[in-house]
Amino acid sequence: MAAQTPYPPRCTRSDRARSSDLRSERRKSVRITCPHCDERAMTRTSKRPSPVFYEVYAQCCNPACGWGGKLLVEFATTTSPSRLPNHNINIPVEPDSRRVLLEQLAPHR
Ligand SMILES: [Zn+2]
Repeated sequence: MAAQTPYPPRCTRSDRARSSDLRSERRKSVRITCPHCDERAMTRTSKRPSPVFYEVYAQCCNPACGWGGKLLVEFATTTSPSRLPNHNINIPVEPDSRRVLLEQLAPHR
């Protein structure tokens, strides 16, 4: 059994990035909103049953609501190919990204 965590779990907004520089942008997490009350929901733990699939557990930050649930997150498309590709991983390239990549591969005029 997991230890009791204070409620609401990590729902303070102090972790928000204040600067608009790229490093701060990368530290921002995806904002998850409670499907019931539209307040912020925090992700808590996750499982990774496959390299391209996560199960993420979320908890609503609104104590008056208290919803908790599981999100399914799948890597659906590739927008920028890996420079260290794992050949066991096949995530389709987005059509728009494929066009850009083909243009980059085409001989320059
Ligand atoms: Zn809620």
